[in-house]
Amino acid sequence: MDPARRQLEQWDRDHVWHPFTPMQAYAAEPPLIIERAEGCFLFDLDGRKYLDGVSSMWCNVHGHHVPELDSALRGQLDRVAHTTLLGLANVPSIQLARRLVELAPSGLTRVFFSDDGATAVEVALKMAFQFWRQCPTPRREKTRFLSLGGAYHGDTLGDVSVGDLARFHHLFQPLLFPTLRAPSPYCYRCPLGLERKSCHIECVEVLVDLVRQNAETLAAVVIEPLVQGAAGMITAPDGYLRRVRDVTRECGVLLIADEVAVAFGRTGSMFACSQENVTPDFLCLAKGLTGGYLPLAATLTTDAVYEAFLGRPEEGRTFFHGHTYTGNPLGAAVALANLYLLDNEVFWSDLPGKIDRLRAHLQRLADQPHVGDVRQRGLMAGVELVDDRHTKRPFSPELRMGTRVCRLARERGVLLRPLGDVVVVIPPLAIELSLLDQLCDVLYDCILEGVREF
Ligand SMILES: *Cc1c(COP(=O)(O)O)cnc(C)c1O
Repeated sequence: MDPARRQLEQWDRDHVWHPFTPMQAYAAEPPLIIERAEGCFLFDLDGRKYLDGVSSMWCNVHGHHVPELDSALRGQLDRVAHTTLLGLANVPSIQLARRLVELAPSGLTRVFFSDDGATAVEVALKMAFQFWRQCPTPRREKTRFLSLGGAYHGDTLGDVSVGDLARFHHLFQPLLFPTLRAPSPYCYRCPLGLERKSCHIECVEVLVDLVRQNAETLAAVVIEPLVQGAAGMITAPDGYLRRVRDVTRECGVLLIADEVAVAFGRTGSMFACSQENVTPDFLCLAKGLTGGYLPLAATLTTDAVYEAFLGRPEEGRTFFHGHTYTGNPLGAAVALANLYLLDNEVFWSDLPGKIDRLRAHLQRLADQPHVGDVRQRGLMAGVELVDDRHTKRPFSPELRMGTRVCRLARERGVLLRPLGDVVVVIPPLAIELSLLDQLCDVLYDCILEGVREF
């Protein structure tokens, strides 16, 4: 074996602690080391190519090594790589803020930059909390948050407090603030024991009642619009989000829309909220913001929220939160180029065809053995594998069925990453139909093969 490669493998084992990765199992096998990428393909050190079936952790939009994005980055590099946004401005972050405000649901006029999805949500939580202490008629008792079962909003302790993935977060319980929880609209395993065919979205009425009963102490409701991603691609029924907006508005509770995973075309429109005509009080953006190039996030909010933070410096109404690389010019420049590429009719007119094609492939899977449920919104989908289709009994976790299927896919040149036993498909939005077919054919074969002996 090439000594340089052997060295990299050894150093990866010796030093790199991978996120969300059981390291003992990881270190037991040779790592897959990516060296370069082109379009929807990643290439390892041997030049073997892999279709990027999960958009490099759900963030890639136009593919990799995109000439327009590369040159925006290079152009900015010739000027300056980084200057602080603390009390100082830079050109691309101003332009990006302006562009985001133009695109976002109207009324979202103020842009607070940070680095990741986790920080975008953390910022919204802290702003909402501080808002109620400083708004024209302060409501200091409004300190609590309501979120959904299965919610995932990032890994900071604030985000984990509003999150609800026991698998990831149970351990940290003693460090978290208490949060009100409404049932997830997980129709396949309805928390209320109902059937989507005959229900009236009673789960959202539980949320409505909770908001009404707790309006006095609720600062905000936090929600992943349309799709609860990390929970397993749980797609909410039509009208769910609208109802959440209506009740929060009625009760004077702020709405934080965590669009970290669903914005920038992922669910078929620029923002998921627009599909239900919703303007949240906070819109959290990250993953696709830079087209999948650099870490950059934004929390958009309204003039009403912003104005509660104004006053003479000594009044202490300032939002004392920020990150060293907040508003990084390289990130902002590439985000602007990403938005420029999204401002293209062909992109949007091609998208429904891709969404339909993915739907057709998923329908083919829906009747297969051990496929419990298929869920899709836009180019975002999950296939839930179960031991028993009739009782919906899950596979025993030791089988790691999701991981097993993704392993088979990797052998066939497709990179996927499961959420438990939900196999996730989130291709770059720029994927061509022929590659989408290829991806889905591999998915189909690997699911059938993966579950065959069970
Ligand atoms: C990924 C994700 C986050 C966290 O974003 P990071 O950039 O990984 O910190 C937050 N919310 C949702 C809905 C996500 O999918």
